[in-house]
Amino acid sequence: MSTNDRKTVQVSDEVFRQVYDSPASLPGKEKWVTRDQDVRAIEELLGMKPLTIGAPLWLSGDSRTCRQCRRETSWLDIVSSALKKVHGKEMIAEVILGERKFVNVEAPHAVADLFCHGCGAAITDLRSFKCHNWAYARPALLEVIEQMRQR
Ligand SMILES: [Zn+2]
Repeated sequence: MSTNDRKTVQVSDEVFRQVYDSPASLPGKEKWVTRDQDVRAIEELLGMKPLTIGAPLWLSGDSRTCRQCRRETSWLDIVSSALKKVHGKEMIAEVILGERKFVNVEAPHAVADLFCHGCGAAITDLRSFKCHNWAYARPALLEVIEQMRQR
């Protein structure tokens, strides 16, 4: 692809590495990325425009699926569980789109208070979830938060 074909945003080598590194060191037997279908559902849940979230939303754990309904666990479960608790939509948008690269990655045990978006069963073996620094998305983040405040 020619660099003239589109406008590119320059980022430092460190940011580039943070965005594109595969999280090989995440704990657990399995490591996977939230599938697109669920990312779109998260955007809808949070009142974002489609395709706002472009960063890979990684997870890791000892199994990828809900043991009750076999749904693949994703950030959709994390976001929908969090919305039932103390976190507001705005905070979750900041977590996904903001500068925090790791969320609870160092947790030694399973992530607590997580429930399957499909069937509501407790998810007990998710070990970590990680959001890469999406440095070029800052304007999109601010726009999303502004839209949420207007609701
Ligand atoms: Zn389930």
